[in-house]
Amino acid sequence: MGLQLTNIQKRFKRRDVLAGVDFFVRQGEIHALVGTSGSGKSTLLRIIAGLETPDVGNVTWNGAALLGVPAHERKITLLSQTPLLFPHLTVGENVLLAIPERSREQAEHWLARVRLAGRYDDEVHTLSGGEGQRASFARALAADPRLILLDEPFTNLDPDLKYELQQLIREVVGELGLTALLVTHDREEAMLVADRVTLLDGGTVHATGTPRELSETEPTFGDFIEFEGEM
Ligand code: ADP
Ligand code: MG
Repeated sequence: MGLQLTNIQKRFKRRDVLAGVDFFVRQGEIHALVGTSGSGKSTLLRIIAGLETPDVGNVTWNGAALLGVPAHERKITLLSQTPLLFPHLTVGENVLLAIPERSREQAEHWLARVRLAGRYDDEVHTLSGGEGQRASFARALAADPRLILLDEPFTNLDPDLKYELQQLIREVVGELGLTALLVTHDREEAMLVADRVTLLDGGTVHATGTPRELSETEPTFGDFIEFEGEM
């Protein structure tokens, strides 16, 4: 049960960015996809989200094809590097937009869940960088996704805020039984946050395993570090 990618290929300007990518994200896990800048991580997320079409390959969720299903029907949300919030709407209205029933109570619930209780009527520009990412996360959750895609969501945060958002994501994903695919160029971050990790290299999958397994088989992967959080 989960997300299966089979032989995903994508070529841009005569360059094979994705040259046959295969991996599996188990339902309920946080899976990290690690690759250097330009290795095609964002492209892969956009393919999963339905914002880009692969040249070759298949994407399924619990065995059912996702390719061909319109993006808004996939029940997949994408959290990107910078918060993408509408500046002319309040914080709460941004979350409200993701909720089909447009329930303010629900929007307030999600804001509280990301520790932004009481910020519903605030303007977007009053949010700090970390708060903006949390508001974007609230909006992603409010859409009731089965899979959440996280595209380097910690990149613009300083270390404390990064750690706080990592903990929040682990906590909420676990609590809601969501499945998350986290894309990062940072191996240490992948080790800290993910249950399993896939290494992307040269357009294909180089290895997949738990952080502990990879720290044993991948000489460049570094030592295994226990995540020190209250989980
Ligand atoms: P990553 O997220 O791993 O840094 P990307 O998926 O953003 O990598 O990009 C992989 C490569 O594909 C880069 O060389 C990028 O310039 C190229 N690329 C991505 N999207 C397009 C596009 N729409 N048109 C042309 N080239 C693209
Ligand atoms: Mg990227």
